[in-house]
Amino acid sequence: MVKDEKIVLTGDRPTGKLHLGHFVGSIQNRVKLQNEADKSFYMIADIQALTSNADNPKKVRDNVLEVALDNLACGLDPKKTTMFIQSEIPEIAELTVLFLNLVTLARLKRNPTVKDEMKDKGYGEDVPAGFLMHPISQAADILFCKSTIVPVGEDQKPMIEQTNEIVDDFNRFYGETFNHVKHLVGNTPRLVGIDGSSKMGKSLNNAIYLSDSYEEISKKVMDMYTDPNHIHVEDRGKVEGNVVFTYLDIFDEDKKEVSELKKQYEKGGLGDVVIKKRLIEVLEKLIKPIREKREKLAENPKAIMKILEEGTMYAKKIAKETMLEVRKAVKIDYF
Ligand code: ATP
Ligand code: MG
Repeated sequence: MVKDEKIVLTGDRPTGKLHLGHFVGSIQNRVKLQNEADKSFYMIADIQALTSNADNPKKVRDNVLEVALDNLACGLDPKKTTMFIQSEIPEIAELTVLFLNLVTLARLKRNPTVKDEMKDKGYGEDVPAGFLMHPISQAADILFCKSTIVPVGEDQKPMIEQTNEIVDDFNRFYGETFNHVKHLVGNTPRLVGIDGSSKMGKSLNNAIYLSDSYEEISKKVMDMYTDPNHIHVEDRGKVEGNVVFTYLDIFDEDKKEVSELKKQYEKGGLGDVVIKKRLIEVLEKLIKPIREKREKLAENPKAIMKILEEGTMYAKKIAKETMLEVRKAVKIDYF
C-alpha cells in the first residue's frame, strides 16, 4: 500500500498525431506535474489502441513514435517522466484479468465514455469485447504503478470513477492494496473540434495538430465554423457557439482585446476573415516552437525508441513488484 505519494500516470492511444485538445486537456498538466510528482509515468497505450483497430496494427505501430515525439516536443522530459509502451508490460494484462472479475457487464455498458465512444464508432451490439472492457484495462494501467493522480481530459472522468470502484472492491476482497486515484483535468477540459462538434478527436477528422504547418493551420482556421447567419461584414454576429471565438477565448493571451472584438462582432462591422487571421497568428505562435522541436527530434527516431526502451525497463520493474504483492493478496502465490 502506498501512502501520501504523488504518483502520476497518463497516456495516449497511438492512433494518430496529437492535437490542441490533447495539449490543453492533458499535456500541459503532464509537463507541469512531472516537476512536482514523486514519480511520473507516461504510457503509450498500444494495446488499448488495438481494441478499436484490431485490423490495422501498422497504424498503431507507426503512431507509437508520433505520440512520443508530440509529448517530447511539448516538454515531457524523460529524465523526470518514465515513458513506456503498454504492450511491453504483460503484468498490466495479468492485472486486467484479475480486475475483470470485479466489474459487471451492465456496469461497463453504463460507463458514459464507453457509451459515447461506441456511438462514435457505430458499434451497437457488435462491439469488440476488448473495446467494451477497456475501462478495466485502463484501471490496470493506472494501478500497476500505484498511481494516485491522472491528468486527463473530461471525457476520461468516468474511467477514473470506474477505477476507484475497482480499488474499493479489490481492497475489500483481498486487503488494502491500492489507493484511490484522483483525476486532474486541464484548464480546458474538453476542446471542441474545428467543425464545432463537441470534442476534437484524432479519430474524428476535426483537429488542428501540434505538428501542423502554418499553411495547414491557416486552411483549417479559414474553414472553421463561425456563425452561418453572419454573411456580410455589417451583419450582427453570434459569439456563442462560434468556434473562432471559442478558440480565441482559450488561446489568445490578450483577453481584453478579445472581449472588444466580441462586442464589435455582435454589433456588426467585423468580418470573419479578421478574427480568423488573428486566430491563425495566435495558434502559430503556440504551435511553431512545438513543431520545430518535433522536427528536430524526428531526425533521430532511434534515440526516441531508446528513451521508450529504457522507460519500459523501469516500468517493468515496478510492475513486477506490484504483481508480487497482488498475487500474494489474491492468494495465487504458490511457489
Ligand atoms: P481517439 O479518437 O483515438 O480516442 P483522442 O483524440 O480521443 O483519440 P486519446 O489518446 O484517446 O485521444 O486521449 C488522450 C488524452 O487526451 C486523454 O486524457 C483525453 O481525455 C485527452 N483529450 C483528447 N481529446 C481531447 C479534447 N478534445 N479536449 C480535451 N482533452 C482531450
Ligand atoms: Mg479517446
